[in-house]
Amino acid sequence: MFPAIQFGRLFGIPLRARVSFLLMLTAVLLFWGGLSGIFLVLLAFGSVILHEFGHALTARKLGVGVSSIELHFFGGVANLTSQPKSANDEAVIAAAGPAVSFVLAALGYTLHAATGLGVFALLGAVNLVIAVFNLLPALPMDGGRIFRALLSKRYGFVRATEFSVKISRVVAIAFGVVGLAFMQLQLLLLAFVLWAMASAEQAAARRNPYGQPHYGYGQRHYGQSHYGQRNRGQRNRGQRHYGQPPRTPEVYYQGPSEPERIVVLRYNQRRN
Ligand SMILES: [Zn+2]
Repeated sequence: MFPAIQFGRLFGIPLRARVSFLLMLTAVLLFWGGLSGIFLVLLAFGSVILHEFGHALTARKLGVGVSSIELHFFGGVANLTSQPKSANDEAVIAAAGPAVSFVLAALGYTLHAATGLGVFALLGAVNLVIAVFNLLPALPMDGGRIFRALLSKRYGFVRATEFSVKISRVVAIAFGVVGLAFMQLQLLLLAFVLWAMASAEQAAARRNPYGQPHYGYGQRHYGQSHYGQRNRGQRNRGQRHYGQPPRTPEVYYQGPSEPERIVVLRYNQRRN
């Protein structure tokens, strides 16, 4: 809708600010808190950026590309170019963000204890809130991703996602009720955003162009291949028809010899 403005680059990852973030920053400066408000916002969003780098650098280490880190009205997001390759990978990538926030919280409180400076207590408090809030078991928040990854080992990716989305909706309704009861506009807005984002996660999990039972992790949408170089042509031929089922599964799996195929299928099963 609105362009995101790039304001930097760290570890080769572009940092972008959405217009909603800039509007919020302007509103804080003009109507609420002035310069000290801006300082608090920058402290909070600086912490959010480090949290997102926890996700992004872990993802990159696990072979998942990162296209950017963006800031918006509610916080930040690390944009990954593909799904993690396994449930364990998703759990680790999701946990890395809150782990960074907990470390920053501990650092803040330790420095506060050592120096007595209020700003460090603030750093600790902000990061503790970020860590705990993101661990709520509601997709697409980190806690929801960890929960979905653990569930998917038993129930598969699609069912695990559907169950996680139901929990997200309960949390969204709870946010809505509390927001109405205390007239907290931001919480009300968050309830709507959470509901919409959880629905999007569900739609993405159900989009299953090849009817593969283990859709979800280990997707090869970006020309990645676990089969080795030899089959890349076949994979990519399948890619071009993304959205249409191949005529027969044999066309899709053409390439490996029969025993190898069985090994590959077993391998895929084990991955989930
Ligand atoms: Zn996170």
